[in-house]
Amino acid sequence: MKSHYRAVVIGGGVVGTSVLYHLAKFGWTDVCLIERSVLTAGSSWHAAGGFHALNADPNIASLQAYTIDLLSEIEQESGQSVGMHMTGGMTLAGTPDRWEWLQSAYRTFQSIGIDDCRLITPQEAGELCPIMSTEGIIGGMWADREGYVDTTGTVHAYAGAAKKRGAEVIENNRVLELHQVDDGWQIVTEKGTIHAEHVVNAAGLWAKQVGRMAGVELPVSPLNHHYLISDTIPELEKLDFEVPMTVDLEGFTYMRQDQKGILLGIYEIDHEHWMMDGAPWEYGFELQQEDPDRIEKELTLGFGRYPALQTTGVKTWVNGAFTFAPDGNPLVGPVRGKPGYWCACGVMAGFLQGGGVGKSLAEWMIHGEPEADVFGMDVARFGDYAQNKRFIKETTGQFYTRRFVMTYPNEQLPAGRPLKKAPAYDGMTAAGCRWGASYGLEIPLYFAPSEDFTETPTLKRSNAFEIVAEECKAVRETVGLLDISAFSRFEVSGAGAEAWLNRIMASKLPKPGRARLAPMLSSEGRLKGDLTVFNWGGGTWWIMGSYYLREWHMRWFQDHMGDGVEVRDVTDAVTGFSLSGPNSRKVLEKLTDGPVADLPFMGCTTLDIGMLRVKVGRLSVAGELGYEIHCSAAEHITLRETLLEAGTDLGIREYGFNALLSLRLEKSFGIWSAEFTQGYTAAQTGMDRWIDWEKDFIGREAALKERDAGGPAQIVVPIEVDAADADASGYEPVWQGGKRVGFVTSGGFGHTTGKSLAMAMVDRAAAAEGTELTVHIVGQERPARVIAASPYDPAGKAMRG
Ligand SMILES: Cc1cc2nc3c(=O)[nH]c(=O)nc-3n(C[C@H](O)[C@H](O)[C@H](O)COP(=O)(O)OP(=O)(O)OC[C@H]3O[C@@H](n4cnc5c(N)ncnc54)[C@H](O)[C@@H]3O)c2cc1C
Repeated sequence: MKSHYRAVVIGGGVVGTSVLYHLAKFGWTDVCLIERSVLTAGSSWHAAGGFHALNADPNIASLQAYTIDLLSEIEQESGQSVGMHMTGGMTLAGTPDRWEWLQSAYRTFQSIGIDDCRLITPQEAGELCPIMSTEGIIGGMWADREGYVDTTGTVHAYAGAAKKRGAEVIENNRVLELHQVDDGWQIVTEKGTIHAEHVVNAAGLWAKQVGRMAGVELPVSPLNHHYLISDTIPELEKLDFEVPMTVDLEGFTYMRQDQKGILLGIYEIDHEHWMMDGAPWEYGFELQQEDPDRIEKELTLGFGRYPALQTTGVKTWVNGAFTFAPDGNPLVGPVRGKPGYWCACGVMAGFLQGGGVGKSLAEWMIHGEPEADVFGMDVARFGDYAQNKRFIKETTGQFYTRRFVMTYPNEQLPAGRPLKKAPAYDGMTAAGCRWGASYGLEIPLYFAPSEDFTETPTLKRSNAFEIVAEECKAVRETVGLLDISAFSRFEVSGAGAEAWLNRIMASKLPKPGRARLAPMLSSEGRLKGDLTVFNWGGGTWWIMGSYYLREWHMRWFQDHMGDGVEVRDVTDAVTGFSLSGPNSRKVLEKLTDGPVADLPFMGCTTLDIGMLRVKVGRLSVAGELGYEIHCSAAEHITLRETLLEAGTDLGIREYGFNALLSLRLEKSFGIWSAEFTQGYTAAQTGMDRWIDWEKDFIGREAALKERDAGGPAQIVVPIEVDAADADASGYEPVWQGGKRVGFVTSGGFGHTTGKSLAMAMVDRAAAAEGTELTVHIVGQERPARVIAASPYDPAGKAMRG
């Protein structure tokens, strides 16, 4: 062990060894891994070692596909067998809705280039897995590249391949303390103190403690998980092939062959957390006592699905723990305010995801950004609110229990809610508001006409369709009122504010009293924000974005901070409402003698509205004459009441974000996480029209290079779909004459235009207006075509009027 390394990885499980391997592979060889006990001594040794294609987040599914390809590579490089059994795999659907969902998932895989999947009938499923009863199975999805590995062999293969590239592995050496120093971290271990520029928390079951060593409170908890391994099954002995890895979603089980028996793993409905503050230091190769009573229902289903289990004994029970974040995805990346401290934890499927996690983190550490859009596993997708123990317990428990339960796109899950409520929450609830949650905040979805209205979970248009239609109508024809607590607001001040904003934003800055749309780019020219900058005058600026990106944006701002600038996140202190629609100005004029009529489109000013002194910007995501009115949290209730009262005889109606999403589609306005992501460049999304090429800004060189090379190969275009019962939602494949030319970024129904609309990222050759396409929506192929931007009010007269 040396006294100095460029990077130290803490934890010798599948994730830590993968990070080590990728660091060495990408050129950092002055790196070491420190393991408390021996390699695999956490969750990794007792995993079932299975890997399969499905993940709700397509970006994570891509990284899973990368991991699967990597396994044979590390085997070759290290000379250590990973015990690969590429049996192929099946995911089975047992209800009509699930079958529709699986067909959609199959199409999503096509969109992201995973082409080795196909849909199968129950009969085929039975032939592929002869020991399985197909009772109740409606259909399934087959994937060639699914199977299982030997877990210990895999960890040693990662470590062996890393060592061959110059990395060191130090076992039986616990990290005791971490201290942040000027140029990195001091790592106090049982065998001495090391200095490193970078330290990686890959401590798995102990991630919580290794986080706390650095003052980082991670939203992660271990939960217990059972599988059993059966004795030899005579029917299996007779087969000349291995049965495939099989996931029975309605049965809560996964199954793979284990020698001549089977391994049956269970996602437990009655889940059990274990050591929420992290495993004991002395824990290692022990397991928890099995508890078949707790999982009786799932076992009954499993024994029904694989009838041989009814007459075969159980050879081994495993009840071990592994870690979960609130949404079940890993916690990866740098932590704000802790330069050189990196996370690679909360990985609940390390054998499936470890390769992608290692690759992305190593790219991040070495090049400053990962290649893929990894927001779905970025540790910054959670804020301080997610540190709360009860929140972690409820959300991780919910994820675990629902791991195989189908969640509909319009379904709102209850765990960890309500947590953050805008002050007017109660008033809005009394008015019928139905809520969703984002980053811990309750956000209005729509206003139900009666208390007993229940929205039916569905993959298609729901019974809230007409309600949303009415809300859209009010915004287009009279005036709609929307709670905009879910916008983030950063106040930027100080002598260096303007210079800093000029460098960090790719657009021109607004003059005093004006706002401007501002793309923010990474140095690779990819999007880091679709923000709005306000210049309130007197040296005070605001950056406004999405509530759920607060931590992510703040980390970026701090990492790129300038001299003499202060950036304060004022989001929870400042809140507000927006008024949109032809009557919105009239509502404001009733409440102020200020110069509302003089406020130009994209203007901003301070006004007296009723008894409140508020900040007002004239913008509208709905594409109407509109005003965003920002007040202090203490004034939120009064502002709502004031606006509602003034708007009564002008047809005011409260609306929610479901309507806003429809309204903005009719204007072809993109949104973050759909049309805009860190995976796309500004030119791909049309955001380049806001770029000020004359100035210097982060990402300019890369953006110019792309422009000078003739632009991107794919761009976002608006499309119209012939769909009568369901609308696109995202990642549906788009075809031209049977050739896949792109995928949907988002979609919905345009209630004013009466059309099913979507935005899609397509090849330039398929991007011209009028191009005939087809799109798969909920498993069905539907005709579609590229249309001109902004099917509603293309000239923008309403918005600018
Ligand atoms: C029953 C069961 C079945 C599973 N089946 C599958 C499956 O089929 N497929 C799949 O992909 N995943 C499966 N998993 C999940 C998988 O085991 C985990 O995702 C994976 O092991 C996590 O790896 P890790 O490296 O993050 O953590 P761990 O394996 O927990 O490794 C962390 C390491 O860090 C070390 N460490 C901690 N603190 C310190 C310190 N202070 N100093 C030095 N070293 C330290 C520990 O000793 C440990 O070796 C299963 C899990 C269980 C429990």
